[in-house]
Amino acid sequence: MSTKKILVTPGDGIGPEVSEQAIQVLNTIAPRFGLQLEITEKPVGGAAYDLTGTPIPDETLQAAKNSDAVLLGAVGGPKWEALDFSVRPERGLLKLRSELELYANLRPAVIYGDLVNASTLKAEVVAGADLMVVRELTGGIYFGEPRGVEVRNGERVGFNTLVYSESEIRRIAKVGFEIAMKRAKKLTSVDKANVLESTELWREVVTEVGVDFPEVELSHMYADNAAMQIIRNPKQFDTMVTTNMFGDILSDAAAMMTGSLGMLPSASIGGNIGMYEPVHGSAPDISGQDKANPLAMILSVGMMLRYSFDLGEADEIIKQAVVKTLDTYRTGDVMAEGKTLIGCIEMGEKVLEALEDF
Ligand code: NAD
Repeated sequence: MSTKKILVTPGDGIGPEVSEQAIQVLNTIAPRFGLQLEITEKPVGGAAYDLTGTPIPDETLQAAKNSDAVLLGAVGGPKWEALDFSVRPERGLLKLRSELELYANLRPAVIYGDLVNASTLKAEVVAGADLMVVRELTGGIYFGEPRGVEVRNGERVGFNTLVYSESEIRRIAKVGFEIAMKRAKKLTSVDKANVLESTELWREVVTEVGVDFPEVELSHMYADNAAMQIIRNPKQFDTMVTTNMFGDILSDAAAMMTGSLGMLPSASIGGNIGMYEPVHGSAPDISGQDKANPLAMILSVGMMLRYSFDLGEADEIIKQAVVKTLDTYRTGDVMAEGKTLIGCIEMGEKVLEALEDF
């Protein structure tokens, strides 16, 4: 048995509801793979602000740094919207990401079973699609200097800087290739090398890194074309690696082919400690009503097992249990004719039951 320390930060709104179900799944599957878990829970976001006056107390940050992986629910809500920017719930999340040096964000877009009908795209276009977007998370135009708004020649001018160093590109490209190696060995690097010099360098460095991964078929695509191709024929993609801003936009576009926010997990990796969280927010409109879909959070546990503990098999089992559960049961966000409507707690229980079959 190996022991792993997991920090759970449930956060706000539906965060605690979906976290509870995900922890049960984690506790059920871990012993099957020889994992003993030490699970600690700490506040983050609005809940932490209410308790301590900061969205990321030192105690939570330290616990994150002392853990092997972090599982985060969601943060934010109307109650905290009027707060100063510096203590908004979202700052807690950003601080955790930067302190843990999480420079790679992994966003899978997969269609689970007959959820294909929940997509706004035609079933034949999305059925079987399985795309992983690897987004650079700590550099690029969102962080580049100089930035700001100033008066020039009598008018206001807003400016940001798109900057990538060779080492930043190299490390994210490496993650892209490594992920592709564990999938169908096809990597599409997305840039805008025809107009942006910084992404011309991106293309060059990604190509150089590719020399170390001869088994991976590397291709390059401009970001505008990638946006079109995701909608036109998502099945052509396996793994995509791209900059912070292009990844922000393209991962949302790719995710939407799956139909619901309640189904989307994510992983942020790079440093020694990975952080796993659903893509959705705290959904204040349904919080406290046992209506939340816990599957994005449960699938995030699967990503933790795969990427932090190298237990891809455990991730596969969780996915199979999710697909089986969806055959019969649905939460409101993915409800369809002929299915049985259930709440968050029952959905968690049904996944636990389904896990027994795999
Ligand atoms: P949201 O993702 O919370 O909700 C958008 C819509 O999707 C809502 O109608 C909600 O009910 C539904 N939804 C989301 N997750 C669901 C689930 N698991 N099951 C069923 N339905 C689900 O986005 P929002 O309403 O724009 O934001 C609400 C709050 O969450 C804001 O304070 C925002 O800043 C915050 N937020 C946090 C994160 C995060 O913690 N990573 C991400 C996005 C938004």
